[in-house]
Amino acid sequence: MSRQPVLFVSHGAPDVLLNPGATVRAWEQLGAGLPRPRAILVISAHWAAKEPTVSTVGTPETIHDFGGFPAALYGMNYPAPGAPALAARVRELLAASGLPNTEVPDRGLDHGAWIPLKAMYPAADLPVVQLALQPFAGPDWHRRIGTALRPLRDEGVLILASGAVTHNFGWLTWGQNGKPLPEAVAFADWIGDALARDDRAALLDYRRQAPHGAAAHPSEEHLLPLFVALGAANPGEKPLRLEPEYTYGGLAMDAYLWQDASPAAYNSEH
Ligand code: ZN
Repeated sequence: MSRQPVLFVSHGAPDVLLNPGATVRAWEQLGAGLPRPRAILVISAHWAAKEPTVSTVGTPETIHDFGGFPAALYGMNYPAPGAPALAARVRELLAASGLPNTEVPDRGLDHGAWIPLKAMYPAADLPVVQLALQPFAGPDWHRRIGTALRPLRDEGVLILASGAVTHNFGWLTWGQNGKPLPEAVAFADWIGDALARDDRAALLDYRRQAPHGAAAHPSEEHLLPLFVALGAANPGEKPLRLEPEYTYGGLAMDAYLWQDASPAAYNSEH
């Protein structure tokens, strides 16, 4: 079985699916072009818990955890099966790295998980497990979680980290995509450059080192999934940066794909 990639996506505002643009096209191409996984582990900004927590649910419900968006979004569902055996394996790997872990029996898929998955794998036929992040535990904690989970890549599991490269609602102009905000571009490009150099020390210290580092993430739960992805990437493994668009001026919709060179490697021309 070939090694699975690691993917970070900026999931954007939930209505990204209602007006599919460059971001949704990029997700569709990723789903069609990546080697098909056996199952998917999602770390989403929208599930926070005191310690790393997996859901062992067999039939995850679709959670519409947002307000004020058009009714059509609340009618969308993503009926992928769960994967209790994968949830158990995640706990085993976390424990082997000395990380705390627990499980809940009934947690479904939040919009950070199902929105990109609906574009990537519209048939909803791949089992999905979610893992909760710890919003106040910082970047290095999440890098450690990713490193603990790296063996999953050789077990046919796609690690999908879903957050946002920029996430300051004060930077957004709702209803208008317009010109990207310079502060958002400066921060997103700094992240892109640091990832291209695999400069993990700088990335972990982004709040001080990146331009507008703290402003880009007034709270950092939307960037923390990126550090899980970084930890799951092998040191020196350089990601492909996809930069489909900025939505509402301030939301960089960048995605990063870490994938060993192999004949099945994703081709951005796909
Ligand atoms: Zn979000």
